[in-house]
Amino acid sequence: VTDACNFRCGYCLPNGYRLAPGAARVLGLDEIDRLLGGFAELGVEKVRLTGGEPTLRRDVVDIVARAAATPGIRQIGLTTNGYRLPTLAPRLKEAGLTQINVSVDSLSRSTFHGVTGWDSLHAVLDGIETCLGLGLRAVKVNAVLMRGVNDEALPDFLAWIKRAPISVRFIELMRTLDNRALFEAQHVPVSSLRDALLAEGFTASPRGPLDGPAVTYAHPEYRGTIGLIAPYGRDFCESCNRLRVSSRGDLHLCLFGKGGAPLRQFLGADGARESLKEEVCRLLVGKAPAHGLRAGDAGATRNLSAIGG
Ligand code: SAM
Ligand code: SF4
Repeated sequence: VTDACNFRCGYCLPNGYRLAPGAARVLGLDEIDRLLGGFAELGVEKVRLTGGEPTLRRDVVDIVARAAATPGIRQIGLTTNGYRLPTLAPRLKEAGLTQINVSVDSLSRSTFHGVTGWDSLHAVLDGIETCLGLGLRAVKVNAVLMRGVNDEALPDFLAWIKRAPISVRFIELMRTLDNRALFEAQHVPVSSLRDALLAEGFTASPRGPLDGPAVTYAHPEYRGTIGLIAPYGRDFCESCNRLRVSSRGDLHLCLFGKGGAPLRQFLGADGARESLKEEVCRLLVGKAPAHGLRAGDAGATRNLSAIGG
């Protein structure tokens, strides 16, 4: 819903967000509403709002409410850096949010500050506690695994999920056009955590049809779970059930595709719903079977703030 962000995560926007000169304005509430309606009529049941930082939008609660009012949409998620959650989370839940993903790469205050540029670990953790008290169907934490930063942090996260019903998902660092040097220095396969999880007594759980790309590990003595997201894994793309629409209305068929295809011309007030649906179906035929990351091809993706991660 926006490509803007206030954080400066080293792998994403290390120098902070800058609006590209001449960029179109982001989709308005009514355009988002029409987009949701069209996709829901095509069978989409789950929507995730992401960014950039989606909570920077003043109308983020209204966007959730519009999604919740769309016939056919059953799950509404939000991916956020969490800095506004202590105050915002109850309003999001009331508007219809069903689940939330909060990014926390480290439970060490100084490491979190170093990765994000913000000394706000405590506010983010407070926001997660608020979410846990709201009865959302899932509270998940995203941690990008990085060599020398958090690749020895599994015990900290395990201690947390022993008492807290959170799904912590380690995401393998993905290479983009902007982060090549960091990727080469810090990329570690998330499979490196698997043996430690199995040794602790965790076992892999089966996947549901609306589930995301994580392989989830559970343990009877832990209230939470650990997920491993391995975009470089052999069969990662086989289960891909996602489409992304950028904040300016471009459809991206893959995180690492060659760019987006504009849908905005179908989102005006003139009732172009059928044309929107036809265009999405036409474009879908071109969805590639897999990305080219393992061959070193990150497509046209400069960083993930533009298409949400
Ligand atoms: N700002 C929000 C946040 O950080 O949660 C939402 C957008 S962010 C692009 C979505 C997710 O993508 C975050 O969990 C972030 O850590 C992850 N991410 C960003 N760049 C990444 C990269 N190069 N490799 C792996 N994960 C990345
Ligand atoms: Fe912002 Fe999320 Fe990118 Fe970090 S990962 S810079 S919080 S968009």
